[in-house]
Amino acid sequence: MPREELKEWEKLFAFLKAPLSSLKRVGPKRAATFSRLGISSVGDLLYHLPREYEDRSEPLTISQIKPGKRCFFRCKVWKGGPLTIGRRRVYDVYFHDHTGTVRGRWFNFREEYLKKSLPPGKELLLYGEVTQNSYDGYLEVIHPQWEPVGKEPPLGVLPLYPSVQGLHQLTIREVMKEALKAFPKHREYLPPTLMKREGFLPLGETLWNIHFPRIDQLAAIKAGEAPSIRRLIFEEFFFFQMVLLLKRRARTKLKGIPFKPPGELRKALLESLPFELTEAQLLTLEEIDRDLSGDSPMHRLIQGDVGSGKTVVALLAMVRGVENGYQVAMMAPTEILAEQHAMVLEHLLSPLGVKVELLVSGLPAARKRKVLQGLREGTVPVVVGTHAVIQEGVEFKRLGLVVVDEQHRFGVMQRAALKEKGESPHMLVMTATPIPRTLSLTLYGDLDISVIDQLPKGRKPIKTAIVYEHQRGRMYRFIRSELEKGAQVYMVYPLVEESERLGLRSATAMYSELVKEFAPFKVGLLHGQMSRQEKEEVMLQLKKGEINLLVATTVIEVGIDVPNATVMVIEEAHRFGLSQLHQLRGRVGRGNKPSFCILMAGEKGKLSASARERLKILESTTDGFVIAEKDLELRGPGDYLGTRQSGLPAFKIGDIVRDQKELLKARTWASRIISADPRLRLPEHAGIKAYILYSGLWKQAKTVEAG
Ligand code: ADP
Ligand code: MG
Repeated sequence: MPREELKEWEKLFAFLKAPLSSLKRVGPKRAATFSRLGISSVGDLLYHLPREYEDRSEPLTISQIKPGKRCFFRCKVWKGGPLTIGRRRVYDVYFHDHTGTVRGRWFNFREEYLKKSLPPGKELLLYGEVTQNSYDGYLEVIHPQWEPVGKEPPLGVLPLYPSVQGLHQLTIREVMKEALKAFPKHREYLPPTLMKREGFLPLGETLWNIHFPRIDQLAAIKAGEAPSIRRLIFEEFFFFQMVLLLKRRARTKLKGIPFKPPGELRKALLESLPFELTEAQLLTLEEIDRDLSGDSPMHRLIQGDVGSGKTVVALLAMVRGVENGYQVAMMAPTEILAEQHAMVLEHLLSPLGVKVELLVSGLPAARKRKVLQGLREGTVPVVVGTHAVIQEGVEFKRLGLVVVDEQHRFGVMQRAALKEKGESPHMLVMTATPIPRTLSLTLYGDLDISVIDQLPKGRKPIKTAIVYEHQRGRMYRFIRSELEKGAQVYMVYPLVEESERLGLRSATAMYSELVKEFAPFKVGLLHGQMSRQEKEEVMLQLKKGEINLLVATTVIEVGIDVPNATVMVIEEAHRFGLSQLHQLRGRVGRGNKPSFCILMAGEKGKLSASARERLKILESTTDGFVIAEKDLELRGPGDYLGTRQSGLPAFKIGDIVRDQKELLKARTWASRIISADPRLRLPEHAGIKAYILYSGLWKQAKTVEAG
């Protein structure tokens, strides 16, 4: 319901939402052409920004134009006509001025039209990319644009837009100008202090400036430093952050479950741990404990590099829930990981008299029914499971805390779905992929974040090396010598999703090869399509040291924790993202013995330079944050988390990698405004409210949240 005070902005948003055909010079035919570009409203058009600009401020002479450059020059038609070169028909026109000649060439042409438009002696302004013909050495311009002298648009900077066939730049420019001319007067919606501090201009002016800048403004726009382009980037991030923070605030208004202070059970668990918590673990636990005591539900993300010890922190949070008489649940992305967690939890909790149940899809029906019943009746205090936990039919009597491990593997949807299971249970998400700060702001802007930025004492750095196919024999000898020293070894055949079946075959094929290669050592096999019992058996044997070398698929990517394993071989390493390789590498280096990671990169000659550069980063650092930043830089955000499950909002103008500064600034402003005026009641914030309301951002943010 738009309130009275927001009406002021109605006109602006009505204008932006109006169909393109509401503009002068746009009929149904033009509107249809524009719609092929994804432009259907006036707002779509105005936010369709130039991909580059042509500097037509001063025409050159022919002697000044150079091959390889887009040039703008003044000349006269000398002579022209069609001819056949090889089997192609072309139309050549020779142009001249007092300094030289240049040729224009058309491949697809209407002869009559060219003949009529370009008669000898005609004076023109020509524009296009100059090349040097490799056959006769002539300077030429293929399909030049031209304007007759006298009819040319005013000299200056011309925008070049992303376009589709049949939609000319001239048309886009013409319609753009109409839209800009029709831009309504409106009250500024950004707060005056913000406008002033950032040096922003009103929106209408901003858009004029971006579409039709003056020559002296061009450099700043291209560099992303002009107030106009900064405003558009800032605004996009700012409103997104506003919505995230408003949602977060709405959550803090929810009635949570305040836990009593930690008691005996927590103490007993702490005392039974075979190690001291690191400083970073303690700090994170403090933050969690504070949240758990609060009136509103916790919603916290633990970011910590592989091996930083997130599980035990979560477990300490979980026992506090149990102490308070609540049920707690832990979700893992794979069955193997869920089973491992269940084992660890059971090991630590059963001496304290706390029962742990596993709930995965592969469970025998009778057993599953029993667990479900226990959850419903409240007799099962701790459950560990996969997605199965949140699937229909799972009810909790008193769910108090949910821990989601390895968050980046979950769709955002599951996160939302699980929340529905209790009234408003506390929620703790853990991610082992250290997400760069800017990304976590966009992905998890509605969560509080704790960082475990320290590894347990005594860890030896992992030595990493790129190894090529011709060195395989040497690599096998190295593995054998490590096996002889008592080390356990992983050999991973990483699979890309689409070739799951192909990869499976390869892992299996490798298995039989390696059994022979490394006899008499015991070689094991682990992949996602094995039955639950089989997997459990293999994991157990591995933990007990009965398996010396494990051939596996990427099912072991996350969470698997066998401190005696010290060698990780990753086959076809170049096919994978850095963060994923870092995860895999994180399976070793968990004890106090030196560890090794071998990245198999195929034939030496076949590895591309860029792939090599990426693998080199892994050789040079084991810092997950550094790796994540580089990965993001090299692959772009979509790829970084896998577009499908990343839940990354698509920004049209801003780029979370390139425009980090603007993103952080937007975040700062948004949180400043929300903490000063959480309900946006101050008159200077009415415009923000209007923007969120009229632009439909609130709804959009909801779909982002829901996956
Ligand atoms: P991750 O953060 O990758 O999930 P885990 O929780 O699996 O890491 O912990 C990795 C290993 O480190 C486990 O074997 C765990 O028992 C051990 N660990 C956790 N915290 C400490 C600590 N403070 N000191 C020594 N070892 C620890
Ligand atoms: Mg873990």
